[in-house]
Amino acid sequence: RGDRVAARGSRIVMPLNVAIVGAGPSGFYTAAALLKLVPDVHIDIIEALPSPYGLIRGGVAPDHQSTKAVARAFERTAGTPQVAYFGNVALGRDVSLDELREIYDAVVLAMGAPLDRRLDIPGGDKPGAYGAAAFVGWYNGHPDYSDLNPDLNTRSVCVIGNGNVALDIARVLVKTPREMASSDLPEAVARVIHSAPIRDVYVIGRRGPAEAKFTNKELSELGALEACVPVVDAAQLPASVPEEDGLPERERRRREKNLATFRSFAARRPEDEKDKPRRLHFIFYARPVEVLGGDRVEGLRLERTRVEGGRAVGTGETFDIPCGLIVSAIGYRMPAIAGLPIDPDTGVIRNSDGRVEKGVYTVGWARRGPTGVIGTNKSDGDIVARHIVEDVGQGGKPGRAALEALLREHGVRWVSFADWQRIDAAEVAAAPPGAPRRKLIRIKDMLNILDKDDAAAAASAPGAVPGDTASGSGDTERADPSVTQS
Ligand code: NAP
Repeated sequence: RGDRVAARGSRIVMPLNVAIVGAGPSGFYTAAALLKLVPDVHIDIIEALPSPYGLIRGGVAPDHQSTKAVARAFERTAGTPQVAYFGNVALGRDVSLDELREIYDAVVLAMGAPLDRRLDIPGGDKPGAYGAAAFVGWYNGHPDYSDLNPDLNTRSVCVIGNGNVALDIARVLVKTPREMASSDLPEAVARVIHSAPIRDVYVIGRRGPAEAKFTNKELSELGALEACVPVVDAAQLPASVPEEDGLPERERRRREKNLATFRSFAARRPEDEKDKPRRLHFIFYARPVEVLGGDRVEGLRLERTRVEGGRAVGTGETFDIPCGLIVSAIGYRMPAIAGLPIDPDTGVIRNSDGRVEKGVYTVGWARRGPTGVIGTNKSDGDIVARHIVEDVGQGGKPGRAALEALLREHGVRWVSFADWQRIDAAEVAAAPPGAPRRKLIRIKDMLNILDKDDAAAAASAPGAVPGDTASGSGDTERADPSVTQS
């Protein structure tokens, strides 16, 4: 701060007001990076859901609780006095990008890529075929998908894609209630999954086992399931990682490890493991060409492929897998945002190293597409924080007070971080034995927690004004709190 003041002589430096749209990892890492560079910055984190943490809460699998622990670091950032949280406020519905540009010195778009890349084949929209954003959102209790109501009354499921999301979906479908007891799988979802007659889950890759994008830790985990055996056809496993121009050493090692894991799977004899009734089949060199069935999914037609120059090339030969559920985990995309150019090739906000235009920046999946792990967002945040300091430097725009006035004017009920902590505490207090929390899966139920608290506080404090919350959140009920931007 001393440097900034010195650099500008004796002028008074106004605090820099920054809005970050999206309370997932990329948003929080950007906030942390900004706080380091500009300790007196004011940061407002704007999030469509009442709950923060983005994919940590709604994407990371419910049985991977240790991965979710990173939220504690984000909680510390949110608790910094310079940072305020505006949950239940959606860009495009409650506030526009133009309004944010007016109010803030810099706006950082960190809302991820929340929509499914479509499975664009005949029958791909039949009931029983879902994208991963919807299906994962459903089993993770994301309010946008809590009414998805998928029919899991089937013995056989196809999961399309060879990335970690496909593995998450397959694993959640085959794990036993005991294996999920320490997860935060919503109880209504657990009832559906654990009463389903699923026996065979097919994880389908259009290329080969060496080209699969699974990280080895996630792949290996499938070898140690209580009621499920991984099945791999040894004939589909190459003797070594095929040569590929420019393949980084680290990537080669990952592929080698995966091949070794697949070999260990192929060496297993499912007939020796009859106590494990479920099978997780890896099907390689097969690309989906048609969803089969009448009114709903009855099967998936695949075309056999070979890999040429790193690409899957169809052979014309097809085969069918009967199934009652298809989940495609083939990547994500951004929704259109008024006033923002989406690059048609990459499907992300057009940007140069995170810069969209002077004063508007993007990080995370919104910036680079749906790749990388949680930690990848850290360097995104560092880069954009530096851009903001270089481009904008001094503050001058009104920031938080103007946002609060605008939200009141729009009749938006926002959720402060203290409000979220009350919702969080209610979820944790209601946790079933062994589970970390009982997730509230509807926005109205989250807001009800706050209303109940407020009513109790009003009743026990004579003279208190009903509806006036200590945390400073909006006090106006908005028209339809169950509709969120996706
Ligand atoms: P991903 O790793 O990019 O995998 C996408 C898969 O979809 C690829 O196998 C791709 O095949 C396939 N695909 C794309 N279009 C297809 C089509 N039209 N037909 C058939 N297959 C198609 O993406 P992801 O699984 O969605 O994961 C996103 C990111 O989150 C990744 O970086 C992942 O590592 C990360 N993640 C990490 C964890 C974890 O660490 N535990 C968990 C979940 C997600 P090609 O390779 O042939 O294009």
